[in-house]
Order: sequence, then structure tokens, then C-alpha cells
Amino acid sequence: MSYFAPAGTPVTLGDIARGATRSSRSSHSNDFLAAQMRRLSSLPHAWLMSSGRAALTVILRAMSAVAADPRRDEVIVPAYTCYSVAASIARAGLRPRLCDIDADTLGICPAALERCDFTRVLAVTCSNLYGIPDALAAIERIARERRVFMLDDAAQALGATLADRPVGSFGDAGLYSFDKGKIICTMQGGAIVCPNGDLNETLSLLVAALPDSSLAESLYRFAQLPIYALCLRPSLYELVRKLSFLGLGRTVYETGYPIARLGALQAGVGAELAGRLAALNEQRRGNAARLSEALADLPGVHLPRELPHSKSVYARFPVRVPAAMRDELVRKLDHVGIGATASYPRPLADVPEIAAMLRDPQSDVSRAREVASQIVTLPTHAYCPSDLGERVRFVLADIGRSPRQQAEGMR
Ligand SMILES: *Cc1c(COP(=O)(O)O)cnc(C)c1O
Repeated sequence: MSYFAPAGTPVTLGDIARGATRSSRSSHSNDFLAAQMRRLSSLPHAWLMSSGRAALTVILRAMSAVAADPRRDEVIVPAYTCYSVAASIARAGLRPRLCDIDADTLGICPAALERCDFTRVLAVTCSNLYGIPDALAAIERIARERRVFMLDDAAQALGATLADRPVGSFGDAGLYSFDKGKIICTMQGGAIVCPNGDLNETLSLLVAALPDSSLAESLYRFAQLPIYALCLRPSLYELVRKLSFLGLGRTVYETGYPIARLGALQAGVGAELAGRLAALNEQRRGNAARLSEALADLPGVHLPRELPHSKSVYARFPVRVPAAMRDELVRKLDHVGIGATASYPRPLADVPEIAAMLRDPQSDVSRAREVASQIVTLPTHAYCPSDLGERVRFVLADIGRSPRQQAEGMR
């Protein structure tokens, strides 16, 4: 049976071969990819890192060093985001402070941010989940007014824009991820980008002091790439998703990741993929538009709403359905070969390791909790069939019918 993976980048064997060749010519692949990241972010500084988490940790360490105020040890994060964000905050010796989200963009709600207690805050991070830009201009303005740093986490949003500004370029520093399920994939990897200002010298020093990714780690990840590339094909995904060493689809809270610079092999493949970023993202946007059209008028189904003047890149297409039918929907889509997910299963406040770090565990995260119970992400990558929306619609209609109608339909 064919199976459409929840997310992914259609890496080709050509990308892998050309990337390896590029990396064998001295350190060109790293310089080349860093230059691409500067161009894509329109910012003057970029450093390549072993992961998005490593990038996040180093940015936060730089912010702490520049602020030079040990009382400022909190980072405001959206109450619904990737658990890695909270793990990176812990790794930097800081604590998260949760801010509720907006159900349209699924990012920080600016009105809720205004109500946050900034007394001990060092920085605000956004999330740009699924490649949909957050209210970045408003968040940037609030961060400036409150004199805290802003970190534009564009792990899932390479190539997205808001008012013609690249997502990742808002605030004081940004990051991108090259992990599985992000916009481009080198198995693991990420980048820091930064404008001229207080942070770039400190970042430069911190990154220079890091080790290179170990050769063993780099070769291991590189060896996984062709498997990943094949795995994304609908005819093989069913088989290969059982290979648990690829670590597909897991959301864990884990702070033991390496903090290092990106290996040359990964940078080589990253450069190939960044070179065709526009085409990869157009493909995802087209698929998202078709999904949107097919699901638009269904009762109880909420589609994401983009902010005016924004361009999303849709690493996935998130919809919200009534909580009571969410798990059944994910299960039934899985059954017909559509890799839907319930995304992050819980808001950050309900992850025990994260809750233990909060100074204000009672803060209102009701919207995040609601979204966590309703969200379903649908795939948007190049291997998705053009009638994916109709297929999802069909499954939804089936769930909508009462058990008696379903039984009659089966006769
Ligand atoms: C994936 C992700 C990260 C971490 O990136 P990795 O490369 O997986 O370490 C950070 N923030 C967000 C919003 C993410 O989705």
C-alpha cells in the first residue's frame, strides 16, 4: 500500500551525491551554505550548527552574556510549540515562561504577550509553526518596548515572509532547522542568523569556540540520508517507517544533544536543497492551497488563517477539528495511507519536565490546551497526490455520520 509521510523534503540521490562532492572540495560547502542562509534571511551574519536546538541554545547563551544580568533568566515561549524549544532553554541555564497562542496563526498571541510579567525576562521566542508566520512585527515591537531580546525561531519556516521580510530575520537573532520534517533536510542541522548589533560578535566568539560535529556523527547522519530519501516515497514509506533508528515522528523532551558546528557533508546536501528552496516551497504551498480548497466549507473544520501580507511555506498543513473526533480522524487517515499527526500531543505546561521549570505554572494557556486537543497536521510534500484534500474530506464525512448510518453504509 502506498503511504504519504506526514512531512519531509524530497531529497534525491543526486542531491546527496552532489552534496558529498561539494563537501570534499575543502570547506566550500560550509561557506556556500552559510552564504545562502545570509541571502535567504537578508541578514549579514550566519553560522551553521549541528541542530536547531544547538542554534537555539547558543543564541540564548549569547543573549545572556550580552544582557549580563543574572536576574534575567526567563525566556517567553509560546505555550504550544516543539518541546525542543523548552529543552534548549534549560540547556542554556534559563527557564521558560509560557505565553498563550493565537488559534489562527498558532503562534504567540500579541495581546497575551502584552499581559506577561517581564520582570525577569531575557528574551521572547516565536515559533512560526508549520511554516506559518507569527505576528512577528507585533512581537518585535513589544520586545523592543519591554527592552528584551527577540529570537525569531524559524525552524519550520525557511523561505516564509511577512511584509516581504524573511521569517527568521525579525528581532535580534533567528534560527533555521535542517532536521527531518522541516523545510530542508540534512537529517540534523541548523543555522543561526543575526543582524549587525549587540549579539553578532558574541555569537561569533561562541560559535568559534565550539567543536566541529564529530566525523562519526556526521557519517552516521549522512548514511541515513539515502534511506530517508527513499523512505519518503509513498510506495516505500509503509515499509521504512518501521525502521525506528531514523527517529521519525517522535516528540521527546531531551537535553543531551551535541552542540557543535555542522559537518561538511551535511552542509553540502543542505546547499543543494537550499538551491532549490523556492521550488520545494512552491510545491508545498500549492498542495496546501488544494487542501484548503477541498476542506474549506466543512462544518467543524478550522483552517489556518494567514496574517495579511504573509507568505507561509507549509511544512505541514494544520487543521483543527472537534477534540472528540481528532484521534479517530488521525487513525482513519493512517488507515487509508495518509500520514496525519496529532502534532505535539500536549501544551508545554502539561509536559512534566517543563512544568517543573515554570515560575508561574498557573498562567493561562487555555488556547494552547485547546489547540493541542484539536490539531491534525496533513502532509504537503512533493509526493502528495493532487486529490489528497478529497481523500481527507471523504474520511471526515465518514466520521461525521452517526454509528447507525455508518453501519447502514457498511451493509
Ligand atoms: C524542530 C524545531 C526546533 C529544533 O530544531 P532541531 O533541528 O530539531 O533541533 C526548534 N524550534 C521549533 C519551532 C522546531 O520546530
